[in-house]
Amino acid sequence: MAHPTFDDRDGWIWLDGRMVAWRNAKVHMLTHALHYGSSVFEGERAYGGQMFRSTEHSSRLKESGRTMDFEIPWIVEQIDAAKAEVLRRNDLTDACVRPLAWRGSEMIGVGAQSAAIHLGIAAWEWPSDFDPAHRMHGVRIDMADYRRPDPTTAPALAEASGLYMICTLSRHRAERRGFADALMLDWQGRVAECTAANVFLVKDGALHTPIADCFLAGITRATVIDLARGLGVPVFERRIMPAELTDFSECFLTGTAAEVTPVSGIASIAYKPGAITAALIDAYAEAVRPRRAAA
Ligand code: PMP
Repeated sequence: MAHPTFDDRDGWIWLDGRMVAWRNAKVHMLTHALHYGSSVFEGERAYGGQMFRSTEHSSRLKESGRTMDFEIPWIVEQIDAAKAEVLRRNDLTDACVRPLAWRGSEMIGVGAQSAAIHLGIAAWEWPSDFDPAHRMHGVRIDMADYRRPDPTTAPALAEASGLYMICTLSRHRAERRGFADALMLDWQGRVAECTAANVFLVKDGALHTPIADCFLAGITRATVIDLARGLGVPVFERRIMPAELTDFSECFLTGTAAEVTPVSGIASIAYKPGAITAALIDAYAEAVRPRRAAA
């Protein structure tokens, strides 16, 4: 295997304002974030050497930090520039870009007001696959046991590492049962999202997607809503109960990693990826295509 583990690669990682050799981008075990989950991150993508929606992701990262009661000590423009620099320095064109901000090791204890806030940005090659022949099969997803937490129980809207405990557990259980992912309900038993992607359903030529008020409002989700409206497809953001899932004809997931991924089934309910899903895959592929600077 070319890359046995993620900590053992060639390349450069941006760490607190400096480029460090990949293998030296380390933290100590007495790091607050490791013990108490005080970290936030973004999953982003570059296409053809250009970051997609970089500023939206940097702003959401800053906001996730504030939700966790810390201010990332870099402004959005600096974070955008750092991501571009990581791409250049590692000579990447199609890449996954992963900024992570965390509380450091100055204090270990629940209260850690004066622990320093760190920011690291890593990136690695990650080609996209918009081949419709491959994509349109769709993935099968299970129902998760865990629910998205009530926003009064956890900082539900942040991309905070701690929220992913239940996502990893749900994903593992789904994979063991032969599914690609798991659909999570919200704390009130309504359809919410998958473990790292938002969900859309199609009925009578319109898109329906849950209101993102207790889970991550994906940047891909917002992009796809705009693209659908641009194509004249009505979009309804509304409460969707699991009993309704049998009423829809198509289903797909959206996310930086998922892009637009057709779903062929949720538990025992079957969907047939169709014309609306295909149109949005194409529209998304076009939207992420790198723009050439005007001559
Ligand atoms: N929900 C969760 C829980 C996620 O982790 C992600 C991926 N970041 C998404 C939704 C989709 O978000 P985005 O489109 O911004 O990648």
